[in-house]
Amino acid sequence: MTTTNTDSTNGRVYIETYGCQMNLNDSEVVASILTANGYHIASDLADADVVLINTCSIRENAETRVWGRLDVFRLQKKKKPSLLIGVLGCMAERLKDKLLEDEKLVDIVVGPDAYRELPVLLRSAEEGQKGINVLLSREETYADISPVRLDKNGVSAYVSIMRGCNNMCTYCVVPYVRGAERSRNPETILREVKELIDEGYKEVTLLGQNVDSYSWVDDVGGRVSFSELLEKVAKTDSRLRVRFSTSHPKDLSDEVLYTMAMYDNICSHIHLPVQSGSSRVLELMNRGYSREYYMGRVEAIRKILPDTSISTDIISGFCTETEVDHDQTLTLMEWVGYDFAYMFKYSERPNTKAARRLQDDVPDDVKTRRLTEIIELQSKLSEKSKRNDVGKCFEVLIEGVSKKSTDQLYGRTSQNKVVVFPRENAKIGDYVNVEIKDSTSATLLGIIVKK
Ligand code: SF4
Repeated sequence: MTTTNTDSTNGRVYIETYGCQMNLNDSEVVASILTANGYHIASDLADADVVLINTCSIRENAETRVWGRLDVFRLQKKKKPSLLIGVLGCMAERLKDKLLEDEKLVDIVVGPDAYRELPVLLRSAEEGQKGINVLLSREETYADISPVRLDKNGVSAYVSIMRGCNNMCTYCVVPYVRGAERSRNPETILREVKELIDEGYKEVTLLGQNVDSYSWVDDVGGRVSFSELLEKVAKTDSRLRVRFSTSHPKDLSDEVLYTMAMYDNICSHIHLPVQSGSSRVLELMNRGYSREYYMGRVEAIRKILPDTSISTDIISGFCTETEVDHDQTLTLMEWVGYDFAYMFKYSERPNTKAARRLQDDVPDDVKTRRLTEIIELQSKLSEKSKRNDVGKCFEVLIEGVSKKSTDQLYGRTSQNKVVVFPRENAKIGDYVNVEIKDSTSATLLGIIVKK
């Protein structure tokens, strides 16, 4: 959960964000639209005239958390009856007017493609008119809007390059709540990147549900692919770090890998969700690749970009998953040697193809046991990956002060690994060379060394 921090005069809006990086970036777009319309962002729920909660629907527990927050807002509304409450994002899109059923709670419901409507809907709500706009768009990319940055460090920022997804993985709600895939005009992406450089940012992360299928076609039929966009962004400033997320194994091209190899400022990390190590389960998930094809992509990464770290997403206990399928996930993890992974047990989402066509037949205790085995294996792999870094030197971009001690700073390597080290004369936003002396389960520990 993230909140923002500037107080001011009329229409103070408190924004709370749940879910993925796309949602964080969307809340920055919302903050921009509202500040451009006379609203100001409140740092504290207690000071707010309007509360907006930007929600996630990816798993059941994500929505459960939002219902919990809405109960808190209900109490706040009892204390301040004029308070307006708005639900944004994927849950707003999935549940639509169901969220308005409780007369005394939610005032406006706005889907991910309708944020331009927020000022109008808020004005009507101030006059007692509840509002909803959950229309999905085939064009909307908020390309002309410069997000109001909500991060605290002023070093790293998200830049959305596309919206929606066409992949239709059978377990996923994203295509239903974020709509069809559409790429953003590259000129507007480069404009936003240059604005960030002018504001002193040192790193950008290009965001999309599947960045590899980015494809912009201009009025005369000229096309810009993801590898070409990546090159354009890398060329804006050789001291600007460039990251991207999320890749899709079926679309990850060698062009992207060679472009990464050509530019030192494109970071050596790829997030390549696998979800399962079993080709049979991947077929049921409609992932569009087999175990062997995925391994081929990893081999290409290892050949073209030997120093690149790979992270992934894994789902345990998908419909009909057997012990044999599960073992294939474990052996694939071992073979890749992931540096990091996001791991979850299958959570059936309403109206997805899997919910409509497949049985959620793996007992919950079996899902949990398999997930535990996956997590245990990954923590061994992550530890091994960090131990391999001891004795090596890495360029680190400093992002902040260590939670443990103000004498220590932290930052990330190009491989997206967190490093903690004594601050000496360095400051947030600096690039420093750090020699790795040790590692914990979560971070690398080092000291600053001369270049
Ligand atoms: S690629 Fe699949 S899992 Fe990812 S957002 Fe699209 S449909 Fe969902």
